[in-house]
Amino acid sequence: MLNRAQAFAAVARLHAQATRDAPAAVLVVRLQRLREIELAFGYEAAEMLCGEFERRLQALLRAGDVHLRTGESDLLVLLPDLRGRAHAALAAAKIVRALQAPFDTTAGTVHPLVVVGIALCPEDGETSELLCRRADRACDEAAGHVERLAFWRAPAIPVEAVQQALRTAITDHQLQLHLQPIQRLADGRIVSYEALSRWTHPVLGAVPPALFIGVAERSGQIADLTRWTLNVGLRHLADLRRADPEVRIAVNLSVEVLQLPGFVDQVFDLLRLWNVPPGSLVLEVTESALMRDVGQCEQQLAALRAGGVRVAIDDFGTGYSSMAYLHRLPVDTLKIDRSFIQEMATDTRAQRLVGTMIELAHHLGLGVVAEGVETPESRMQLAALGCDHIQGYLIGRPAAADEVVAAAFASATARAR
Ligand code: C2E
Ligand code: CA
Ligand code: CA
Repeated sequence: MLNRAQAFAAVARLHAQATRDAPAAVLVVRLQRLREIELAFGYEAAEMLCGEFERRLQALLRAGDVHLRTGESDLLVLLPDLRGRAHAALAAAKIVRALQAPFDTTAGTVHPLVVVGIALCPEDGETSELLCRRADRACDEAAGHVERLAFWRAPAIPVEAVQQALRTAITDHQLQLHLQPIQRLADGRIVSYEALSRWTHPVLGAVPPALFIGVAERSGQIADLTRWTLNVGLRHLADLRRADPEVRIAVNLSVEVLQLPGFVDQVFDLLRLWNVPPGSLVLEVTESALMRDVGQCEQQLAALRAGGVRVAIDDFGTGYSSMAYLHRLPVDTLKIDRSFIQEMATDTRAQRLVGTMIELAHHLGLGVVAEGVETPESRMQLAALGCDHIQGYLIGRPAAADEVVAAAFASATARAR
């Protein structure tokens, strides 16, 4: 494995040669789910696959291109003297195709999953470090694209501006709450709604939730934001319950907030304030965050559940829960991450994987929600696999809470007729 200094030196050489007419590209090529491969096929097979990647790259790249191994599952590829952006995209697509070709081992055939992040030189950064960081950032982005590659893009809204403005947004009620329906597959009923925060700033415009939630977490404002979401969410739940007393609301919870002293009491205070039973509140915690801090969270989650509040593991399948923890964790529901649901349409392995997750959940006595259901075909597949609930654009996009409450009353009236 290569150290960072050597990688930076190679990028610096690339940078020195690149011009706007003959740009260069810095690619971070990442093998995903290395741990799963190690566990399923063995460490040696995983190591051989990484060696095979280097051989495949060698065969594919032009003279003058460089590839370096920079981490357990990361390679850095440097492409000098390109004809432009499209040329870089073409090269990256070829790399994805070559590396994702099946690889035979003694323990079976591995189907590697690869992502490529691209930063262009000279325009995407002045220093080697920045170029590498931006290609790395683009790599995260690539995981959400079918082509499995992404170029670095300058964030549209500066993080500093968001951090400043967020404080007033929370206190001045500039945030809005949107609700997205969750449907029970057995009878098609909407049994709960997920609360999702929205923020439209007068100057910055619509700030993506992933951006301002991240900022809130890093700048110590997440507790205030969560209190706001819980309060507004429970107020709407109190309304919704007049149309359907069985309905629930799901609120996203950052683990940082869960660990704050007094948070659990605050939840019960708010439930009493809005006069809703604890069983109609679901708190969603992401699997990755939970696994990071499992020791610190267990007690709080257990206290919430002892009081009747329900707990769901969000983005399940992306956070590598160990089986040992899963059966011990105080939770009620698994929400299967939408990346698996979306892969299911074209990939029978993803379908089997979802089936296995559903079975696992049921064996542990947990309910299952599939997220990101966009097509009737996915709904049918999920029903056949025994999934309990689905959420996604097929059922409904997140919409302003007031509109959702009005629609719920309209359909309750129609049912009563
Ligand atoms: P999440 O908890 O995974 O929420 C689901 C996200 O998937 C939402 O994105 C939703 O709009 C989107 N989505 C729903 N159905 C579909 C579909 O069929 N296809 C696709 N492609 N996407 C779908 P959104 O609203 O941008 O939220 C992003 C994340 O921000 C959420 O992910 C959640 O983790 C976080 N978040 C949102 N509001 C809050 C909040 O009030 N507090 C906290 N702590 N986190 C929040
Ligand atoms: Ca969620
Ligand atoms: Ca989710």
